[in-house]
Amino acid sequence: MKNGVVIVGAGHAGVQAAASLREEGYDGPVILAGDENELPYHKPPLSKTFIKDAEAKPQPLRGEAFYSGNAIDYRPGVRIDRIDVCARRLDVSGGGTLAFDRLVLATGSRPRLLRFEGAELAGVVSLRSLADARLIRELSAQSEDVVILGGGFIGLEIAATLRAAGRKVTVVEALERLLGRAVAPAIAAHVLQRLEAMGVRVLTGTTIVRLDGEGGRVRAAVTSDGERLPAQMVVIGIGVVPNVELAEAAGIAIANGIRVDQHMRSSIPEILAVGDAASYRHWFTGGDVRLESVQNATDQARLAARTILGHTEPYSAVPWFWSDIGDMKLQMVGLTQGGDSHVVLGEPAENKFSIYHYAGDRLLGIESVNRPADHMLGRKMLGAGFSPTPQTVAAGADALKGAFAGFQTIEPAKADA
Ligand SMILES: Cc1cc2nc3c(=O)[nH]c(=O)nc-3n(C[C@H](O)[C@H](O)[C@H](O)COP(=O)(O)OP(=O)(O)OC[C@H]3O[C@@H](n4cnc5c(N)ncnc54)[C@H](O)[C@@H]3O)c2cc1C
Repeated sequence: MKNGVVIVGAGHAGVQAAASLREEGYDGPVILAGDENELPYHKPPLSKTFIKDAEAKPQPLRGEAFYSGNAIDYRPGVRIDRIDVCARRLDVSGGGTLAFDRLVLATGSRPRLLRFEGAELAGVVSLRSLADARLIRELSAQSEDVVILGGGFIGLEIAATLRAAGRKVTVVEALERLLGRAVAPAIAAHVLQRLEAMGVRVLTGTTIVRLDGEGGRVRAAVTSDGERLPAQMVVIGIGVVPNVELAEAAGIAIANGIRVDQHMRSSIPEILAVGDAASYRHWFTGGDVRLESVQNATDQARLAARTILGHTEPYSAVPWFWSDIGDMKLQMVGLTQGGDSHVVLGEPAENKFSIYHYAGDRLLGIESVNRPADHMLGRKMLGAGFSPTPQTVAAGADALKGAFAGFQTIEPAKADA
């Protein structure tokens, strides 16, 4: 492969794809083109710690020396505008082209925006990038009242972080509950209760209809109930949309993301897609998904590198995710949609519990609050294809560990996989 691999997007997925190509022994050219002018960095800390600490530094995904040491040609500040599929060439914004033999699209996603009166005012922000986080940190220092539109993971993480930094925070969520359908109602209710105990005001079943400003800066958010909430900063956190336009314009199939097969190949096999931008049929549920998590981005990138090197195993990673909201470490493993019963271990009143979700006798996934051992065991069990009975789970953590140890002795090959 003379022109080698070009990776578009230098986030979690893009950087991992570059690293995995080298780890897997690929010795051709690797160009990693990203439109941000940063050393690629971890995104999760942005909403959890970075925005409240004026001294916090971004956490690089890899040190600077990693790129040169592994002959990865990292090009910051380079935006790709067009893919010429026939010529296997990319147009760089502002001029220039890049030729490729294989292309990996790791373009991620961007915040969904809402159009309402006042949305263009200064002080109205969303959080995706380090540049956004710097702006939020700066605005937060000048704000007493913050309104957050959207009660999803990122909105709630920001709410807890800014509340801990002393701001008066109101979360406005259109649905009747927090965290959409991402977690069980019991977890959402628990999160609500603890956020309120921290002093975060939460309005569910409510939305923002208008923002009022003064001198071009936001001053208040007006809710669908007619309440006027003072705000010097309004954070819009209503989810993301995948960055598919580059692929779509090149004629690549799109279905709520760049559609990929079990090997991360798009409808044009030399072009692969990974991370937040990619949608696929999930091996675990048989349903079509597009997942937004560090695990999904990095595991898909590892597999994409192996596909490029000629390996043919399908994607089979167990999905997991975490979120830190105030004093709650939430950890999710598996995909729990479609569950019809559940077992709870631990004590919500102690802020430590896990919910094991079942469809019939099949364990679909586990949602944990401050029970990391349950989460870790869950990852091992689901990875090994072990589904304990609800009765075994209900017997407690020791019984569960024992049952899994028994399974591993019977099926060691599977369990070690
Ligand atoms: C604030 C925040 C907190 C999060 N917390 C968690 C968490 O706790 N746990 C968890 O599992 N996940 C978390 N996530 C989600 C996780 O960060 C994403 O799922 C992950 O970053 C996806 O990786 P990616 O490489 O697909 O996309 P990204 O990391 O978004 O990278 C995509 C990159 O491509 C660039 N790009 C796009 N188009 C082009 C183009 N045409 N040319 C050049 N470059 C381009 C983008 O600018 C971006 O730099 C969080 C996300 C955010 C924003």
